[in-house]
Amino acid sequence: MPTLPMPIDHTAIRAEFPLFEVRAGGRSLVFLDSAASTQQPSRVIETVAEYQRHQHANIHRAVYQLSQGATRRYEEARATVARFINAAEPAECLFTSGTTGSINLVAAAWGRANLQPGDEIILSILEHHSNIVPWQLAAEASGAQIKVIPINDAGELDLDAYRRLLSPRTRMVAVNHVSNALGTINPVQEIIAEAHAAGALALIDGAQWVAHGRTDVQALDADFYAFSGHKLYAPTGIGVLYGKRALLESMPPYQGGGDMIERVSFAGTTYAGLPSRFEAGTPNISGAIGLGAAIDWLSALDLEQVGVYEQALLAYATDRIAPIPGVEIKGRAAHKSGVISFVVNDPPMASLDVGTQLDLRGISVRTGHHCCQPLMERLGVSSTARASLALYNSRDDVDRLADALAEILEQNRHRAAARAGRLQADQDDLAPRLQVPDATMSAAPGQDMNLGAGMHLNQVAGAEPAYPAAAADSPQAAADAIAEDFALLPDWPTRHDYLIELGERLPPMPLALKTDANLVRGCQSTVYLAARRKPGSKAVIECLADSDAAIVRGLIALLQRICSGQSAESVLAFDVDGFFSRIGLDANLSLSRRNGLEAMVQRLKALARDT
Ligand code: PLP
Repeated sequence: MPTLPMPIDHTAIRAEFPLFEVRAGGRSLVFLDSAASTQQPSRVIETVAEYQRHQHANIHRAVYQLSQGATRRYEEARATVARFINAAEPAECLFTSGTTGSINLVAAAWGRANLQPGDEIILSILEHHSNIVPWQLAAEASGAQIKVIPINDAGELDLDAYRRLLSPRTRMVAVNHVSNALGTINPVQEIIAEAHAAGALALIDGAQWVAHGRTDVQALDADFYAFSGHKLYAPTGIGVLYGKRALLESMPPYQGGGDMIERVSFAGTTYAGLPSRFEAGTPNISGAIGLGAAIDWLSALDLEQVGVYEQALLAYATDRIAPIPGVEIKGRAAHKSGVISFVVNDPPMASLDVGTQLDLRGISVRTGHHCCQPLMERLGVSSTARASLALYNSRDDVDRLADALAEILEQNRHRAAARAGRLQADQDDLAPRLQVPDATMSAAPGQDMNLGAGMHLNQVAGAEPAYPAAAADSPQAAADAIAEDFALLPDWPTRHDYLIELGERLPPMPLALKTDANLVRGCQSTVYLAARRKPGSKAVIECLADSDAAIVRGLIALLQRICSGQSAESVLAFDVDGFFSRIGLDANLSLSRRNGLEAMVQRLKALARDT
């Protein structure tokens, strides 16, 4: 086991983060989602609070001292940013809303002035949507084309392919410094040099790098470098676009408004110089000051040592997580930052369920596509669970993650075995009656969801799907019964277990119904919903649904109990949202799951309206 290097005093650092003072059941939160947003140390929180309490005024335009003080602090923050990334001057560092804002600025303003039909922009398959969609918009507007650098199976960029993509038509190469989904650290210095040799510019998305090692935009020779405050121990809503002065000066303004002008008249407007030219309107003053404080806080540590500490922690985490049976780590690049993305394959378990189960144990990881859908497609998965490390994480955190994961996957194996047993029993029971040979029932062609080993008889062609009948006299009566059950359960963990149990007993949905038309969009997991008018009835609707995520199957079970077998009129009249908040689910479901639920409800209601 590697011992972690000591110049980073992890315990002292962790003590600076108020979030970790909160203890549940005697244990503090294990926060492993810093790639999404880092927590903030007291110094940052207090600097912002103090500014808001006693120092706030709008900047740049007033003669009074309060405003001048705020202006000074805002501009000092810019100077701090410039030192942090070694920009030649503060004016090359524009404050934006974040990495997304920074990349949109370049794609729109530089793109408008420079891209023409036939030009090419090179991106990589590792990119966050923030470094894809703005370029797609710019390409659409200009007639330029996007080329994509592929990766190898370890998640590393294929640099030979990159060189082959470069051509005299290449105008811009935009890649991330570190992949948020896999942690791959890209050789950006080399990538930039090759872009320049081909006559192109290079933009680096540094969102996942700046908090984890030294950044020197001049040594990199980056033309543009973008990052966000909230991944750098600073508040949300503030970020930076670094650009070389000559390039920024040659670009037309991005947005128009106050602060970015020199003189406005209806005969024509002239624009301010850098950096104001690209900071239209009142900026996020407290955010910039908070970012300055976060950089000061981080810079007081040795960033080389920060890197060494996090690398040792990553190695430890990889050693602990990789051997857990059923886990497959996605992204095994030789140069990686503190990100472990994984899927559970054997038996399959939806990332959403892994994340929910970890959350019940006080461990926060991210699940989903991480805003990298093209990458997920390349990896052949729809989502991963991702644990990402920061300075306040320790081996204890990693141990709690690994132990919890091992326990969760053990339970998953038991559940899958029990489910397979139940399915087999059903098959044994029904096979003689349907006279279907065993062989027909064993394989599940195209079965991509974790419905357990084997397959239910309803999945056999010709078997009539069993749509559930009404569970009560009306949706309201069914909902009241569910609410009574929930009221007996004391807390979210037990309600969660109850939901999982309900999901386990969901009537099976035949594969034939798992069609594109029945796919419910807007859910983090894969969800199919088939609704129909009950045969022989004009106004009663029935539904069958399924998901690869156990928790979603539980929600489906609730929805089915309330709606299936009920009159269209009563389904339309029922307040599903109100019901889910009545039983306390809205407080415990993530927005994406609530959106998914909403999408299912909308489907049902649309059918009910058509009846
Ligand atoms: N680029 C990368 C690599 C990211 O990880 C993220 C956020 O996760 C972004 C861009 C977008 O950052 P923001 O949402 O702060 O604009």
